[in-house]
Amino acid sequence: MVQFVGIIGAGQMGSGIAHVCALSGLDVYILDMHEVVLTEALVLIKQNLARQASRGTITEEDASASVSRVSAGTDFAAFSNCDIVIEAATENEEVKRKIFKTLVPNLSDTALIATNTSSISITRLAATTDRPGKFMGMHFMNPVPVMQLVELIRGIATEQDTFETVRDLAERLGKTVAVAQDFPAFIVNRILLPMINEAVYTLYEGVGNVRSIDTAMKLGANHPMGPLELADFIGLDTCLAVMHVLYDGLADSKYRPCPLLVKYVEAGWLGRKSERGFYDYSGDDPVPTR
Ligand code: NAD
Repeated sequence: MVQFVGIIGAGQMGSGIAHVCALSGLDVYILDMHEVVLTEALVLIKQNLARQASRGTITEEDASASVSRVSAGTDFAAFSNCDIVIEAATENEEVKRKIFKTLVPNLSDTALIATNTSSISITRLAATTDRPGKFMGMHFMNPVPVMQLVELIRGIATEQDTFETVRDLAERLGKTVAVAQDFPAFIVNRILLPMINEAVYTLYEGVGNVRSIDTAMKLGANHPMGPLELADFIGLDTCLAVMHVLYDGLADSKYRPCPLLVKYVEAGWLGRKSERGFYDYSGDDPVPTR
């Protein structure tokens, strides 16, 4: 049974995963390459737990006990007692490969590895470790404390015990699982990202502006968020990375990333996390940029 969870990457996903693990009574060590990101993540986790307590969805005691269960740092040696390490670093295969190379010598023989990748082959990532049987995809949705789903993806070598332990962990976190096969972008992003990419094409071709595209999909298709607003929320670099994986992995031109999405990422306009994407977030209310 899992009690001590390691998390790699303290961005929007890693901090959310730490939050839900701690709230479920698990001990957490979260690692990032940047100290400042870790400091921000700890503040964010504390604030989000305090907000839940102020709304009465959890008690003040649960919030403060959860905060005390999370530790953070930059040292991979701290993963030596972890039952499982969940990798939630930048969506880049080379980055993840390097992380697993550094991680593996620091793990106990029995530790499992999960990756929160949105799109990269689980089998290929597993093969970069010494334990493909103890490796699988555990794909949380953003924001993790709010979203109900965890997609579970076995690699070709994933053992049944590993699958059951990770499924039990997801359920202990109060999540519902959906099992996907190891194909590029799995289920959610195979369907969602081409829609977002098409929304960017719709903007690029001048069919509508940012506001009209988002309003059309919210009120016309009953989506809670417009696709461009959602793209900013996910992170435009992550959106582009997923489109590349779909395009390369399925070799079909229908997945080609929109040139406007590429330009925004090249400009460093990555969405909410950089305060500018399809909307400008520097003021009180988001302002469309086109
Ligand atoms: P993010 O940019 O907010 O955070 C990524 C973090 O990884 C950063 O803090 C960065 O410093 C850290 N990092 C990069 N290289 C590192 C290294 N070598 N060692 C340690 N830390 C390193 O990104 P995110 O949105 O949190 O996404 C993280 C992962 O989760 C990606 O694989 C992404 O595809 C996946 N994911 C994202 C979403 C989403 O909506 N954003 C949803 C589901 C899954």
